[in-house]
Amino acid sequence: MTSVPRICILGGGFGGLYTALRLNQLAWETGQKPEITLIDRQTNFVFTPLLYELITGEMQGWEIAPPFAELLKGTDIRFVQGSVDWIDKKQKSVTLEDETEIDYDRLVLALGCETPSESVPGVTENAISFRTLQDAYKLDEKLRILEASLTEKIRIAIVGAGYSGVEVACKLADRLKERGRIRLIQSRDTILPDAPEFNRNAALKALEQRGIWVDLETTVSEITADSIGLIYKGQTDIIPVEIVMWTVGNQVSPAISHFGLPLNTQGKITASETLQVTDNPDIYALGDAAAMLNLEGESIPTTAQSALQQSDFVAWNIWSSLTDRPLLPFRYTNLGEMMALGDDNAVLSGMGIQFDGPLAYLARRLVYLYRLPTLEHQLKVGFNWLTKPLVKLLS
Ligand SMILES: Cc1cc2nc3c(=O)[nH]c(=O)nc-3n(C[C@H](O)[C@H](O)[C@H](O)COP(=O)(O)OP(=O)(O)OC[C@H]3O[C@@H](n4cnc5c(N)ncnc54)[C@H](O)[C@@H]3O)c2cc1C
Repeated sequence: MTSVPRICILGGGFGGLYTALRLNQLAWETGQKPEITLIDRQTNFVFTPLLYELITGEMQGWEIAPPFAELLKGTDIRFVQGSVDWIDKKQKSVTLEDETEIDYDRLVLALGCETPSESVPGVTENAISFRTLQDAYKLDEKLRILEASLTEKIRIAIVGAGYSGVEVACKLADRLKERGRIRLIQSRDTILPDAPEFNRNAALKALEQRGIWVDLETTVSEITADSIGLIYKGQTDIIPVEIVMWTVGNQVSPAISHFGLPLNTQGKITASETLQVTDNPDIYALGDAAAMLNLEGESIPTTAQSALQQSDFVAWNIWSSLTDRPLLPFRYTNLGEMMALGDDNAVLSGMGIQFDGPLAYLARRLVYLYRLPTLEHQLKVGFNWLTKPLVKLLS
């Protein structure tokens, strides 16, 4: 190892960015502070839980997706924009698509998941997924065109009634109001099958209040530019639509399959409880792309909450490994869950409390404000929220 250790972090989402920020804060001995490099193919971090707020214009892109360059200003973290192509475990180097090579002593894999789109004909060409800033802008652009057109009713089918599908549906309904005709399509016999009952009931109430049609036990046969084929009890109906949103599934970032690392059956990287990749103690994995079990032997959920908790442990364990201290086993704590259910409503449950309505909406906003990366960004966004009503009033 060179005198200054080199830590390379692949992926600047909840797992990667927060690991980098935490590593930067830890107490390193003089002259031993590592070189930390964060690599992401995008220029901006995306705080996905607040992405829905872009649909209704409650928040702006700069609040939810600040550039890495801005977030890392004033830190010793170097940001490199590029797509990771390959890792050489023997040489301990990472190669990007443009052939840039970066050497490491410790490597962190936090490349996350993508929304798979090959399961049904026409998804890639005709449906919009909802995971990235680009997806949110694409949806907004399409909505603007339709809102400015003579189209009387804007018909939208949202495939998947998990968290994303339900939250997108409520926000769309609140944006389009009387003009929206929104349909939520779910293959199972219930919406939000994994959610606590209280949250599911609050979501059902919010969907009903907004007149959102829910098709249960329904699958999709095909999506075209202006229609969606729905199969219910063996019968197919072709429904005309202006927009199809595709919110189903989680597929590990494709680059991971080339790395020659141990994977589970879902293609996730297997890691020990210290978050070190099996048989590769210098490589750490966390977030959606890592396979880990909790003490009860259940998979740790693929959520920002898990990735954030893991980032503290990865940073700590890297620091420990470089300073000859024992590594800590990761323990997941379920802090509960929150969902946006429109532009003035949310539901929150966990840690023994559960409530919905405008108070939950406010609580959710405050929790997420606190979770935004860097104090500077939190202050900027918080100040904007406080002054926004005043600015609106004056204009
Ligand atoms: C719309 C939406 C809402 C959500 N809401 C919530 C919520 O309310 N609560 C919650 O707990 N979770 C929520 N989640 C889940 C949460 O976003 C993920 O669990 C979390 O982002 C996982 O963190 P990660 O670091 O593993 O991956 P990500 O945050 O996805 O980060 C992965 C990063 O890797 C980069 N990357 C991928 N491949 C490459 C490559 N080859 N080269 C370079 N860079 C690459 C990507 O650009 C990305 O920045 C939501 C997800 C979505 C899509």
